[in-house]
Amino acid sequence: MSDATPKAPKGLAGLNLNLVTPADAAAAPGEAVSAQRGPIDTRVAIVGSGPAGMTAAIYAARANLEPVVIGGLVSGGQLMITSEVENYPGFPEGIQGPELMGLFRKQAERFGARIVDADVDRVDLGSRPFRLWAAGQEYRAQSVIVATGADAQWLGLESETRLRGRGVSACATCDGFFYREKDVAVVGGGDSALEEALFLTRFASKVHLIHRRDEFRGSKIMQARAREHPRIELHLSRTVQEVLGEEKVEGLRLAATDGGPEELLPVDGLFVAIGHRPNVAVFRDWLQTDEKGYLRHDGATSASAIEGVFIAGDVDDSRYRQAVTAAGEGCRAAIDAERWLETQEAQAAGAR
Ligand code: NAP
Repeated sequence: MSDATPKAPKGLAGLNLNLVTPADAAAAPGEAVSAQRGPIDTRVAIVGSGPAGMTAAIYAARANLEPVVIGGLVSGGQLMITSEVENYPGFPEGIQGPELMGLFRKQAERFGARIVDADVDRVDLGSRPFRLWAAGQEYRAQSVIVATGADAQWLGLESETRLRGRGVSACATCDGFFYREKDVAVVGGGDSALEEALFLTRFASKVHLIHRRDEFRGSKIMQARAREHPRIELHLSRTVQEVLGEEKVEGLRLAATDGGPEELLPVDGLFVAIGHRPNVAVFRDWLQTDEKGYLRHDGATSASAIEGVFIAGDVDDSRYRQAVTAAGEGCRAAIDAERWLETQEAQAAGAR
């Protein structure tokens, strides 16, 4: 799936990724595979390899479901483009995002999950077994867990990409702590930007909130809080033209959309909060989305409207979007899939 993977930089630090081809996934561990085979059958196909997908894989593998994880060409999800993670329980000293995802993967593989580094480009959820295609390989699955995540939207500046993880972030909850007594900027005008700006006032000495229009999109109450906060300075009708700095963020070059002159704003960090895009592309024709484009599940469980298809992680979550909440949802989805398969298999046995 073209948009299911984060746009991760090449050569991710500290990660020794062994790319597994679809054909490898069909082979027994250690078996050499030289040619593609026919469809690969599995009881659970997990699409996505962030915290939700990998946690689902750990639980499904430990339930002897022998899951196949089709995890995207660049596996690991949003944490692969995060530097230090300090809020994932169990790591009191913090851990690098790619390292954490390497551990998730190792744990899933230890229990027998097969992880395929390929993008799903087509699915057929119209009948069972469900069918999925990735890199020319067909998979037939009794159940599917969709854990494709949501990608943060970026401004699209070369300097922003270069300094991502070195002062440019899309998650104040994750990285705000590093900006104690420093000046930071937040770009965006929705609730996320207002919330991130307010959150950052806990650490930063000054928070510059930059929005391209002269009125915010976010809720009135959040606007009022931001406007009234003594450490938030508004820069309305301004766009970020360039993130300044070679090794780390040192400032921003701002353009005025109301005809004013360009400005240089010295800051130590830039938080981009211009929305997220859930990765639903290949599922759009099959699964329901809400008004924000996120997948819907039934609320009480991870079940989608299609029996046997379950949903986990940021692809259904516009609210929390944390690695730990995604991991929790992955656990739920694997348990839901296991119970559903058990019921199906018991019914099939009873009918014989
Ligand atoms: P959003 O509401 O879509 O707002 C995105 C903001 O980013 C808009 O102000 C938009 O500007 C700006 N923007 C988009 N592309 C840009 C670009 N290329 N350059 C500069 N600015 C750009 O997204 P969100 O704030 O992430 O919120 C998503 C949903 O989650 C909303 O429904 C929101 O209410 C909800 N949410 C709720 C809470 C809460 O209740 N606590 C917290 C966070 C989010 P324009 O306004 O000019 O389009």
